[in-house]
Amino acid sequence: MLRDRLGVAYPHSGAPISPEGVRRLACDADIIPIMLGSDSVPLDVGRNERLITPALRKALIARDKGCARCGRPPRWTRGHHVQHWADGGHTCLDNCVLLCDRCHRLVHHGGWDVRIVDGIVEFLPPAYVDRERRPIRGINQLAA
Ligand SMILES: [Zn+2]
Ligand SMILES: [Zn+2]
Repeated sequence: MLRDRLGVAYPHSGAPISPEGVRRLACDADIIPIMLGSDSVPLDVGRNERLITPALRKALIARDKGCARCGRPPRWTRGHHVQHWADGGHTCLDNCVLLCDRCHRLVHHGGWDVRIVDGIVEFLPPAYVDRERRPIRGINQLAA
């Protein structure tokens, strides 16, 4: 389900959340996503390498200084996987970006894309913000 974005997840609370919401939540380390088959049998209970280690978080803070998009301090941020771990993305400096909750939502739900080019975080705005989707360098990214 995390992979094909189909279906609806029912977390412990019983309230359904959208597949894209599951992907956003599963992007960070706070929950262990359980993918359920149509008969509610767990298919996958997550992978350990999805977790952002303290050492990696430190390296991310050194590069991003906080939210890479808006500059909120590190304590407001979580690690976002550029390529989702469910799609084979690795949990490493080249595939993770610190984002605050708000910017994390924009990336998962608001049409913003994020990429890392030569170690520099860039954001691609959705077409309704910039029709040409010109990349915007992350706020605290050093000049290349
Ligand atoms: Zn932010
Ligand atoms: Zn994310």
